[in-house]
Amino acid sequence: MRLRAAPLGAALMAACLLMPARAQLPTLGDPSDMAVSAERKLGERVARELYRDPDYINDPVLDEYVLEIWTRLLAAARTRGELTSELDDRFAWQVLLGKDRVINAFAVPGGWMGLQLGLVNVTVTRDELAAVLAHELSHVTQRHISRLMTQQSRQAPMMLAAIILGALAAGKSPDAANAVIAGGQALAMQNQLNFSRDMEREADRVGYGVMTQAGFDAQGMVSMFEKLQQSARLNDNGSFPYLRTHPMNTERIAEAQSRQQLQARAPAAPAPDLVHSMMVGRSRVLSNPGMDGLRAYAAEADGPQAAASDRWRQVGILYAAALASTKLREPAAASRLVARLQAATAGDARASRTAKLLAAELALAAGDATRAAGMIDPADNHRPEVMLLSQARIQSGRAADAAPRLQTWVALHPRDAQAWQLLGAAYTAQGQTLRAIRAEAEVQVAHLDYQAAMDRFKAAQDVARKSGGGGDHIEASIIDTRARAVASLLREQALER
Ligand SMILES: [Zn+2]
Repeated sequence: MRLRAAPLGAALMAACLLMPARAQLPTLGDPSDMAVSAERKLGERVARELYRDPDYINDPVLDEYVLEIWTRLLAAARTRGELTSELDDRFAWQVLLGKDRVINAFAVPGGWMGLQLGLVNVTVTRDELAAVLAHELSHVTQRHISRLMTQQSRQAPMMLAAIILGALAAGKSPDAANAVIAGGQALAMQNQLNFSRDMEREADRVGYGVMTQAGFDAQGMVSMFEKLQQSARLNDNGSFPYLRTHPMNTERIAEAQSRQQLQARAPAAPAPDLVHSMMVGRSRVLSNPGMDGLRAYAAEADGPQAAASDRWRQVGILYAAALASTKLREPAAASRLVARLQAATAGDARASRTAKLLAAELALAAGDATRAAGMIDPADNHRPEVMLLSQARIQSGRAADAAPRLQTWVALHPRDAQAWQLLGAAYTAQGQTLRAIRAEAEVQVAHLDYQAAMDRFKAAQDVARKSGGGGDHIEASIIDTRARAVASLLREQALER
């Protein structure tokens, strides 16, 4: 993620000057217990910065796709006993997407996972993506991160978080990295944060077991490794941070191959999945390709590739072309392309649904919110549909219809920042200021920014006081309760500095 270089550098310096040599961590009964809670808290600091990063991307369609793979891997890790119930309960197990085009995925302390769209862009099958996620997941379940952190335990949590963020920034543009790691001490420690060769082999072995248990094709691991190694050979300019943190070598590839041969092969390798191909198309367009890149994607739909190649390839090309045309503000071209996409996906239920969602998204982007809303079944309970329909209703002047659906949604998913944000917009449209401010506070809580949340809760309390007896008493009392809860989270954070 592109972490702003200057403030982060400043944070590092501040940490050097102000932090005590040894962190005062809360003492619990069991030493390993403490490590789990300390790792989780450290992860929260890092994750909070990742949410603030301009590269962080909240995309319900890609989120759902990645989450489906991730959920299957977690279930397999539980079945195999790799994921203990303690870690399961206390870690976040959330994947954060970044729209950087570098090929990178990384595990953060506390069970957060960063996945850059650049990595999604180079995959051909879902199995390849699953292989990378399974490998990262295994670094966490095998407590590799905890071991690296223990080696650094003389550092205060704030310093450690700054070092991790510096290491992540180093995976981005070289300039940002240089600014961040200017301090020699920080650089030396950052090097110690790299996984050892043994850890890499263990993550490969455990990850292999997890991904195959989850029903993914192990061939994905072999082809992904080969792809990463090839990229490294072609690009020696440091734009592949995944390889720096997870050095790929022929030995690891050979091990993956031999494991894969031990598994009974499926009779024929299945053709790449249509939905995966569409998700790669989406990822490529959303990972900031620039105007020329967008034009190239849009033009590909009429190029030789689209005419000659396989159905899965065509579908991916059409999806990317339709989305790119929308980004280029060419709605007529986009709707022609999405019609071709719908014809090309007919007969495949999952692919048709993905194409229909895109059609609704394009209608909304073209300013036709009423038509977009009409394309989505109001009873559909999938997150992308719920979010898109809510957005379309708010934009077409039907905020009163959007709010109840979103209220139900956040009751079930209280940490869904986007749902809170839409709910806030729906309340604003209806003139319900108090509820709108509270929704904005909840967006900040979901992104772990408790100070920003507190500022909004206080603003809401001011509004409630000023409106006196005529206000929304139930909402005002909810706000007081939530403000107290967040205040205690803030106090906890202040203690562990
Ligand atoms: Zn690794």
